[in-house]
Amino acid sequence: MKKLAAVLLTLVLLTSYSASFAEAEWDYLVTVTELESDHAMLVNRENLLAEDYIPDDLTRATVKCASSSKVDLCKEANEALAAMFEAAALVTEYTYRVEGSDGTWTEKQFKSNEGLRLILKSGYRSYGTQKTTYNNYLARNNGVDDGISSPPGASEHQTGLACDVLSVDYNANNQYMNDSFYQTPEAQWMEENCHNYGFILRYPADREDVTKVPYEPWHMRYVGREIASYMTANSLTLEEFTSEWKDKMSAFLAAGGDVEQQMLLEASRRANGVESTVLEEYGEDGDAEISLTF
Ligand SMILES: [Zn+2]
Repeated sequence: MKKLAAVLLTLVLLTSYSASFAEAEWDYLVTVTELESDHAMLVNRENLLAEDYIPDDLTRATVKCASSSKVDLCKEANEALAAMFEAAALVTEYTYRVEGSDGTWTEKQFKSNEGLRLILKSGYRSYGTQKTTYNNYLARNNGVDDGISSPPGASEHQTGLACDVLSVDYNANNQYMNDSFYQTPEAQWMEENCHNYGFILRYPADREDVTKVPYEPWHMRYVGREIASYMTANSLTLEEFTSEWKDKMSAFLAAGGDVEQQMLLEASRRANGVESTVLEEYGEDGDAEISLTF
């Protein structure tokens, strides 16, 4: 009888153990490894960077730059940007849309053997530089903060993961960036394809209510391919995505989940060649040049 009770007790314990273990499973498409990485960070007016925050892997940008002064980016962002610039240069034909003065859109055909020519306008900006940029912008804008230029600490450019990318022609013909850039094939191609290189269009049109920043067709933010693909497939801004995964993380931790343990599990999956679930689900296909494993 005692033995039976012991067996029953063990069974009950085992069942409840496996039940709590099952509850703590990470059931979100994006891996904890990606979410815990620096490139997942959210920076905005409510999530400020410290004055002394400097990314530790800044490197000189290797792509074509608009100004002769040097531009720095985080290493990973720089590599991804270079891959995007190279891919753009191979696009010799592209259908894009332009808006007429009556507000109607018509299709146009881009054709050039040189491909789409992108140019990097801006990358990493220190807290101090952003302070100057912001003050200069205010002076130019009659002291009005319209959301275009971020106050120091609120700019993604301080992360080293954000870059302003224009087309060579647009840069040559426009002193300031405005949303007319969207009428170029380069802007539309970037919006359509940047997630394949780990970038998101950080401030999309008509999402100002969420981002609190007006549409910026040039502002690309590196978040890694897994997060970029997930966000794009689900039409999420970084604000929405962050609140979604933070909720998932809270539930995971409340159910006894262990972040370190989960990251070890993900590392072993990667070591065994398991592809990212996100990229399997949403990743592009048919492009042999880009490996889907990460
Ligand atoms: Zn920017």
